[in-house]
Amino acid sequence: MNKKIWIKASYILASLLVFGVFLYLISIPSSKDFLTKIENTTFDLRQNIVSKYKKTSDDIVIIDVNDASYEYIVDKYGSWPVQRSFWANLINQLELSNPDMIIFDLLFLKKYRADGDSDYELIKAVNNNKNVYVSMNLDNYPSEVRIPPQLPDSIKNTVENDFLIKQNPDLFYTNCRPIIDEILNGTKNIGLINVQRDKDGIIRTMPPFSYYDNAYFKHLTVLAGLNHLNIDKNNFKMKPDGRIILDKGHILPLTKEGKLILNWYGPEWSFRYVPLWKVSDAVKKNDRKFLDDNFKNKIIFVGVTANSLSDIKSTPVSYMFPGVEVQATFLNNLLDNNFIKKTGTFYDILIALLIAFLTGFGIMNFKSPLKSVLLFFGLQAAYFVVSILLMGIFNIWVNLTAQFVLSILTFACAYIVKYLITSRDYEHTYKLAVTDGLTEMFNHRYFQEQMTTNIQTAKRYNGVFSLIMVDIDFFKKFNDTYGHQSGDAVLRQVAQTIKRNIRSTDIPCRYGGEEMSVILTNTNKEDAVKTAVKICEAVRNKEFELATGDWTHVTISLGVAAMPENGDTTEKLIEYADKCLYIAKRNGRNQVVSDAPDDTPTE
Ligand code: GH3
Ligand code: MG
Ligand code: MG
Repeated sequence: MNKKIWIKASYILASLLVFGVFLYLISIPSSKDFLTKIENTTFDLRQNIVSKYKKTSDDIVIIDVNDASYEYIVDKYGSWPVQRSFWANLINQLELSNPDMIIFDLLFLKKYRADGDSDYELIKAVNNNKNVYVSMNLDNYPSEVRIPPQLPDSIKNTVENDFLIKQNPDLFYTNCRPIIDEILNGTKNIGLINVQRDKDGIIRTMPPFSYYDNAYFKHLTVLAGLNHLNIDKNNFKMKPDGRIILDKGHILPLTKEGKLILNWYGPEWSFRYVPLWKVSDAVKKNDRKFLDDNFKNKIIFVGVTANSLSDIKSTPVSYMFPGVEVQATFLNNLLDNNFIKKTGTFYDILIALLIAFLTGFGIMNFKSPLKSVLLFFGLQAAYFVVSILLMGIFNIWVNLTAQFVLSILTFACAYIVKYLITSRDYEHTYKLAVTDGLTEMFNHRYFQEQMTTNIQTAKRYNGVFSLIMVDIDFFKKFNDTYGHQSGDAVLRQVAQTIKRNIRSTDIPCRYGGEEMSVILTNTNKEDAVKTAVKICEAVRNKEFELATGDWTHVTISLGVAAMPENGDTTEKLIEYADKCLYIAKRNGRNQVVSDAPDDTPTE
């Protein structure tokens, strides 16, 4: 096979093999899970880097029940959860500062109803102020534990083209934690505070809608966010790629599973926090300046951060992230229109193929392994930097794992292919270096090497080996008669005849000109003579084809020497075989001679 074609074929074969293994790896569940884990880790890393350069909105402020506030409340009001008149009073006092919204990341559950007017004060405060938002929570308790409550139509939504969401069981619930009935039926400002964790327990996405009782319900943050943007909507349409286009250029870029990927602003406490006890204290002292300074026109979240009340979540940027700040982050993303968007599989595989191709191409063309390794890491580092910039500037999440896996596979495979090609090249070069082009016998240099090796071996193990020298008879005349071309043709055919009549362990060489030699390893003189006679007869009986297409006969003369009896150096053995050859020529040619008296002249 043509060498170039062989190399091309192995490139194509190796590429197909690598791509096949790659597709297999990204499709089988167990490795897919593993690769997703790695990809998520790279996302977390990127988020940790880019979040350092992001700023939270000044419009959002969190009133948090931290440890100090918890003690303050228990001390002043006797218990937690605190009497609901406390919240009613807080709402009424905050409203005096004209906040944009007051969003409760707290559940006013039906089951904690108190006797007396306390609850009614809260009901009034929530229902009468159109900028107060309260939360509810869906779950999957069996109906034996709790009869699933009816939720009012006023908070129900539809999502068109939800076939992809419908495949995600995470967003489907069979029960609901009921909040106070009068609030449930008295305000439209009720949203979900359900969160979802990835398999590793980290929150990276949030569900904008969850499904319960044949309807979709908005997440608390989506509800408040859309109201803030004056987008009044409860029918949503999903594009095939998952996006929900809202008014005013705002987009909810849902994943295929119907979730939004959060874009973090840094570790916990990146938002502006005011602890509840300070607010409560200001209310008590009627410190209007403090309340106005902190809450005028603000979107206020009220939530829990105290360790003892444990609403702490794991996020890509921190393992101790207050739940209320997750909600604030969600809202901030919505207002800034900067949710993370994942690139599609098509793009990711295309990039993976490109980077893997560059890796493979480099390895095949670089002589030094160091360069190849540098190229591999260089490309990986470059794409990592690009991925950070894309996330930081355009909120785009490109897949790093797919291209890494494909590049690693390519790297390994390219090295194997390269090794095979080089070793084949080496073999080829070696063969060229020891072979005679005309006769395809070994050349003189190789003959010398093998003589030395065989002598050393025979000496060491007290072994034997033999040497046959062959010379074509009257070859000068043959050339003169039939021309050099025919001479070459005959030389080749004599060489073939010799090769056919020896063992595979014997070494046929072109000694020079029309003289050939055979080293017979582990062969004593008697057997060597038999071989020589066989060769002599074979040549004698063969018809040789000339360059002209005619046929003719030639003969050869052969001299045989053996170690140890005829010498133990290359020179001595060659000299002895040459003497025999001389005698064969003198005695009429076309014969084998294996005995040369000491006084035989050597031409
Ligand atoms: P003898 O029987 O005594 O060996 O007679 P000879 O003519 O063969 O004598 P000798 O061995 O000295 O001749 C060598 C000749 O072989 C010289 C040259 O014309 C021919 N010869 C040597 N190498 C080649 C070759 O590669 N090709 C061809 N065509 N002829 C060669
Ligand atoms: Mg000769
Ligand atoms: Mg000759």
